[in-house]
Formats: sequence, C-alpha cells, structure tokens
Amino acid sequence: MTALFLCGMVKMRERREKNAGVQRGPIEAFYVSWIWRRAAENYRKKKIFCERCGEPGTQVHHRIRLTAANVTDPMIALDESNLELLCDECHEKEHGKRRWRAMPDGHVPL
Ligand SMILES: [Zn+2]
Ligand SMILES: [Zn+2]
Repeated sequence: MTALFLCGMVKMRERREKNAGVQRGPIEAFYVSWIWRRAAENYRKKKIFCERCGEPGTQVHHRIRLTAANVTDPMIALDESNLELLCDECHEKEHGKRRWRAMPDGHVPL
C-alpha cells in the first residue's frame, strides 16, 4: 500500500517536471541554488547594464560555459571573472537562438 502510494507520487512528479520542461542534472541544480541566485543578484546589482551594448542587463552569463565537470569549481561557477551581465538580446546572440531559458537572475542552458 505504502509502496504503491510512493510510486504514484514519483510518477506524478516526473510527469509534472516533464510538462514544465525541467531537465534535471548538476547544471540545472546549480542554476536554481541559493548560492548562484545570490551571486547572480550581487553581480547584476553591481553592473546594472549589459556589458556589451549598455541596455539594462537581465541575464548573468558564464563566459566559460558550465559543464558537469566544472560546475563544482567556484572559480568557474561563481567567480566574477567568469560572469558577464547581458541583456536578453546579447545573451541570445551569445547562445544562438533560444539556447537558454530566461530566469530573472541568470539562465538555464537547454
Ligand atoms: Zn546587450
Ligand atoms: Zn549565458
């Protein structure tokens, strides 16, 4: 009875995540973590404008792209030397068409 119930819960969660287009992995987990949100918010407050065109910045971009191998390296994932504040337009150019999902304080690459 309990096992069946749990199994149902897991299925429900999987279905919901699939519907929401959520991909699970170390990079996705990083982008929703408080440590990234805080780092990205600090960086955005400091820079304010897109570092390429001067429009208001919206996306905190990683110059060296995050991979499963380097996402745990704070010099890559969190250090300001690897961050860049971009507007939606410049960010889209950087990644190609819709290669990222916009979030208020950064992005999740798809
Ligand atoms: Zn821009
Ligand atoms: Zn980016």
